[in-house]
Amino acid sequence: MDAELLLAHVLGVPRTALLTRDRVDDDAAARFAALLDQRAERVPLQHLTGRAPFRHLELAVGPGVFVPRPETEQLVEWALERLAGVPEPVVVDLGSGSGAIALSVAAEHPGARVTAVERDPGAVEWTRHNAALRAATGDRPVTVLAGDMTDPGLLPELDGAVDLVVSNPPYVPDGARVPREVADHDPPLALWGGPDGLDVVRGLLRTAARLLRDGGALGVEHADQQGSALPAVVRAHGAFDDVADHPDLAGRPRFTTARRVRR
Ligand code: GLN
Repeated sequence: MDAELLLAHVLGVPRTALLTRDRVDDDAAARFAALLDQRAERVPLQHLTGRAPFRHLELAVGPGVFVPRPETEQLVEWALERLAGVPEPVVVDLGSGSGAIALSVAAEHPGARVTAVERDPGAVEWTRHNAALRAATGDRPVTVLAGDMTDPGLLPELDGAVDLVVSNPPYVPDGARVPREVADHDPPLALWGGPDGLDVVRGLLRTAARLLRDGGALGVEHADQQGSALPAVVRAHGAFDDVADHPDLAGRPRFTTARRVRR
């Protein structure tokens, strides 16, 4: 599959067009061979093509930004369900990376006022780049902020005003084994979450509790081994109720949701 996608990329055609093609010129063959070598060395496919499909979008990606994963598409699905019927919901995506979550919400909910927060100086350039590309298509522009989701002074103007906080934070426990292509190519700040993987999440919960309006919704992705730990941390925080955990399409625990209690 990856070989076909790389050849289609070199030829500038959809993968299905390869079926009716029986020759490629020497130049294309050489470029294809070079890409195959890099892929065999575990460079992510999306870095070689420069594109990552996510829901209805094609995001620009490359070294320095986390490649969006299909599991996260489910978290966006949940967010859109929560926002259905709210004409102009205020949404904050904490740790945006490529902008996959924030820009999908903006693309699929035309009324949403979305802010994307990213602390990694390299990654936020990609957030801005993708936000500009999407705004140029006519989607309502997403506000991009270079900031840390655990900063108590983040977005003071949105205190108590946010309808939904959504995040795919760094949640990999320090020292856990991750595939070579992840360890070598995804930015460390997007992955590592301290001894139990939930250090950043604890800061995120404080920020979400402050930003969300009473009754506002929280959705946070987690590792498949954190299906009990993350709901427990959310319950222990005290500012949330209606805590639930949701599986991904493979049936593995993948994200936790909750509601901001009344102040
Ligand atoms: N799911 C990611 C992985 O494949 C981890 C992402 C994260 O920490 N948010 O490694």
